[in-house]
This record gives sequence, C-alpha cells and structure tokens, in this order.
Amino acid sequence: MHTITAQIILKPGREKSVLNRHPWLFSGAIGRVEGSPQPGDLVQVLDGNGRFLATGYFNPNSQIRVRLLSWNVDERIDDQFWVGRLQQARRHRQMLNLEPATTAYRLVNAEADGLPGLIVDKYGDFLVLQSLTMGIERQKETILAALNQLWQPQGIVERSDADVRQKEGLPRLNRVASGEPPPETLVIQENDILFGVNLLEGHKSGFYLDQRENRTAVTHPHHIANKTFLNVFAYTGGFGLYAIANGARQVTHIDSSYDALSLAEQNVARNGWQRPQDEYLAGDAFDILRHYRDTQQSFDVIVLDPPKFAHSQRDVDRACRGYKDLNWLALRLLPPGGLLATFSCSGLISADLFQKVLFGAAVDAGRQVQIIQTLTQGPDHPVLLTFPESAYLKGFLCRVW
Ligand code: SAH
Repeated sequence: MHTITAQIILKPGREKSVLNRHPWLFSGAIGRVEGSPQPGDLVQVLDGNGRFLATGYFNPNSQIRVRLLSWNVDERIDDQFWVGRLQQARRHRQMLNLEPATTAYRLVNAEADGLPGLIVDKYGDFLVLQSLTMGIERQKETILAALNQLWQPQGIVERSDADVRQKEGLPRLNRVASGEPPPETLVIQENDILFGVNLLEGHKSGFYLDQRENRTAVTHPHHIANKTFLNVFAYTGGFGLYAIANGARQVTHIDSSYDALSLAEQNVARNGWQRPQDEYLAGDAFDILRHYRDTQQSFDVIVLDPPKFAHSQRDVDRACRGYKDLNWLALRLLPPGGLLATFSCSGLISADLFQKVLFGAAVDAGRQVQIIQTLTQGPDHPVLLTFPESAYLKGFLCRVW
C-alpha cells in the first residue's frame, strides 16, 4: 500500500488548485491515469509536463477523484505519516486547553487537520471515529492502532454512517471498533455542564460539539439572566442548559425528536436543576413558531439552530427560503430589544448569503436588526485557509428592535 504505482496526469493548465494546496482533485482536471490504481490506492499527481505536484489517495467512484495528502515529493505515506498527522492534531487540541472543564471535543477535523476523510471526536474516555472515504477505509487498522497508542481510550466507536459514504461506494457502519463498548448514556462535561450522550445512536458522533463556544457567547448572563428563552432545534438541551446555568427565568425547548427532548430533560436533572417552569415541545419547529405568532406569544431570547437545509447545490434556493421563513417567524416573536441567535450549518450557504437571507427576513418582518456578534464553529473544528469548504457553521447574534 505504501508504494506508489500509479500517476494521475492533469490536463494542461489545470494545476492551479493543486499548487494552491486545495486538497480535492476533481475528475474534470484529470488528463490521463497511468497504471491501474484501485479504489483507495496512493497515487502521484503530475502536471501536464510530468512534474510532481502532490501525493494523495484515489477513488474512481467519486467525483473527488483524488484527496491530496502531501505536496512534498520526499514525504512517504507510511504508518509513520498517519501517526505524525494524528500527533499534530493532538498537539493543537492540547494547546486549546479545553480540559478539564470540557471532556468532549473534536480531535481530528478531516481535511483541515491534513487528514481528508477522517473525523475523530473525543468523548471522555471514548473516541468516535468516522471514516468517510475509501482512502481512509484502507488505512483504518493503522489509524485505529495509532488512536489507541496516542489516546489510550477505553473504547473506540465507529460511526461511519454518514450519507457521503455512499458516494464513495462504502456501506454504513455503526459499531464498536476497538476496546469496550460505551455505556448507553455516557456522561460528558462541556464547560462544566453535564450532558448524557449516546455514542452509538445519537446525531453526528453523539453531540453537536461545534456549537460549544456559541453556547457560551449567546447565553452570557448579560443576555439571558431573568429572561425567557426559546431553544428552537434543541436536540439534547444544548443552548438551553447553558441558559439555565446562566440564570434564564424560563426555557422552552422545541425539537422534532422526542428521544432528544427526553434526554434534554434528563440532562437538566443530571445537573441538579429543578425547573418545573420549563417546557419541552416535540413537533415541527415551523408549525410551533406559527402557532406562537398566531397566539401572540413572545420570548426575550431565541436560538435557531436548524439541521443542514442544503445538501447539494440544487438545494440552495429552497434552503434559503427555509432559512428566511424560519427567521421571519422568529423575528415576530421578539419584543423590542430582544435577542436572536441564528445559525446555518449548510456549507454551501456562505456567511454572506446567510446574512442576505436574514436581511430579507428582517425587511419582511418590519424589524430593525443589529448584528452584535458573528459566530462560527469552535477552535477544535479549525478552518484550513487552503480549503474554505471547511468553514460550514455560521451564525449571527442579533439585537432586534
Ligand atoms: N441546538 C442543538 C443542535 C441542533 S441539531 C445543540 O446545541 O445541541 C438540529 C436538531 O433539529 C436535531 O435535534 C433535529 O432532531 C431537529 N429537527 C430537525 N428538523 C426539525 C423540525 N422540522 N422541527 C423541529 N426540530 C427539527
């Protein structure tokens, strides 16, 4: 596997993105393939004149034909290469000093950590791995061994159940890959708040780790103390638990998942809070917000943290209409001076476009909206400058008049 037997030769003039260190090489840039690389094999990428550009792994079944790993002709892609990249990811996380207040965070953020197709999250003494590509699939045993050596977890869960695996020709996998199985509900700590997480069944790898810093920002006591708070798309409590910790008077959680909401309610109890005033509403967020509008209810602070609306370029227009409707509805429920924290995790919708959508919603709702803070994914989900696609989460904290 470590010897490279195939070369990908680019069409003349198509080397720019590779020279700019973008880690994806699309099929359209490829002139010809020399050798007969199998899915997941290492290949060299050469320009039209036969000059070395980069090394990566190949998949003929994906439009992203090669994912690039190294631009250094002398760098061998052997076991030590994978261990080295993981060590660097570990050093970066150690520098963030998240522990001990936070025990769950992202260890490896795929392309942005120089490891295309690989995501690893840490949940206390357990790790959760997602292998999203054929190239990573082929290296999985090496990677599992390295994870065990570097972090010595009690167990490693594999949640390779993302839809993108289908594009790579890979089956869904949901299993304990190494060590012990996690408890059904594993308790983690985020900024000293306790959350129960189900690693084998929960969304993503179990928890929305990317919102950690935003939960803190939005629920600052200045914003939330003694306020009423509407936590729309609540999942297992997230923003709502931070709001309680910071003095919210009353919290209403909305989610379509009954199971997520019952975990949210357990999470409140787990932190020792008694909150008979809070509400948990299972249902469609749009319907519930419309009902609030029709019955003229209001909330001092509202968070909108919907799931991804745009999965491909085709979805973008429809997704924008969805975001606009949602924000328009929420704006109508805020008193003058109220706060709206609104998010989009659709990578295909840029922060600029999302801001335009919010503008449209504000004009239609007849409200004046001031952005008081722009929000993004946490520092354990770094964005690589050469790979702007790694910036997917955007949000605005707004004062609404
Ligand atoms: N804010 C959460 C994460 C939200 S993820 C946190 O901080 O942890 C998006 C959530 O939206 C999921 O829990 C999903 O169950 C829920 N959801 C998806 N579609 C919905 C809909 N139409 N109405 C209400 N909730 C929905």
